[in-house]
Amino acid sequence: MDEGWSVRRAVVTGGAGFVGSHLCDRLRDEGAEVVCVDNLLTGSLDNLGARPDDAGFTLDRRDVSEAFDVPGPVDLVLHLASPASPHDYARHPIETLRAGAHGTLNALELAERKGARFLLASTSEVYGDPLVHPQVESYWGNVNPVGPRSQYDEAKRYAEALTTAYRDARGVDTVIVRLFNTYGPRMRPKDGRAVPTFITQALAGEPITVAGDGAQTRSICYVDDTVSGILAAAASGHRGPVNLGNPVELSVLDLARHVRELCGSASPIVFVERPGDDPSLRRPDIGLARAELGWQPVVGFDKGLTMTIEWFSRLALSGR
Ligand code: NAD
Repeated sequence: MDEGWSVRRAVVTGGAGFVGSHLCDRLRDEGAEVVCVDNLLTGSLDNLGARPDDAGFTLDRRDVSEAFDVPGPVDLVLHLASPASPHDYARHPIETLRAGAHGTLNALELAERKGARFLLASTSEVYGDPLVHPQVESYWGNVNPVGPRSQYDEAKRYAEALTTAYRDARGVDTVIVRLFNTYGPRMRPKDGRAVPTFITQALAGEPITVAGDGAQTRSICYVDDTVSGILAAAASGHRGPVNLGNPVELSVLDLARHVRELCGSASPIVFVERPGDDPSLRRPDIGLARAELGWQPVVGFDKGLTMTIEWFSRLALSGR
């Protein structure tokens, strides 16, 4: 990270979502003023619970797929707005493509007008069902352009190309980060991703539904680590793309067993149909992030999962 780099005023698109709201919190903790631009398509005001009386935080409720401006100076634009869970982008395919295409264009235009650094939150999904393992940034991916995940994967691939064009042709100071699966408090219980699904099922004593035979692998990163990586990339001079994820890989079945044990649950594990184009392997090579950003995850698997389980337990008690 560049010593002495500090953000005075940041725009976070998608700041009412899971990752974005933690990012807003961290930026506020570090003294930056934050403008969150979000239409609450998949985000929630509950995620911004600590913010109503915070003079340094503004929620601008709008769709980033329509051109927008933010009055006043901005030195960092962090573009996260997009449905991100497979359930959400299946329900909102056109919105997902628009957020990746028009939303990224509008956020880049904002950064250009303000002379701000721009960060694109891209995804490991640009690697598709990867033929190279672990995934390294130089791998171009194996994506089905008309498959059930294409609206998300191709939106992000286009967003990366657009970000690259604004950097090379227009001189905008950009960086692309490719986030791998992130988990933690504020995920929605029914967003369809493995961690919240397994935790809510285990806590309720319901069967834990593992897709396929559960041999497919994932690498999951605690949200605080992801946020640290995003801010390290923003503070660096690097253009990316740079992988941000936890290189510890485990099978989905092992994840289900582990969650069940940490929840102290007796839920049976049942096997359900695996969705189309579900990646078989997922593990980031984070050598670049280590070398260029001095970043690596620090929150251990048990600690992160325990904090997440505690949060979901409180959520269940609150009846939300
Ligand atoms: P999320 O659904 O919780 O948050 C996305 C936010 O974007 C929501 O608040 C939503 O309301 C907002 N949004 C969506 N479309 C919008 C639009 N057109 N205009 C304004 N706001 C809009 O998802 P998340 O898990 O927090 O993901 C955030 C970003 O990180 C996404 O860009 C996603 O692709 C990326 N990412 C996340 C993960 C992960 O594991 N969580 C992994 C890879 C990449």
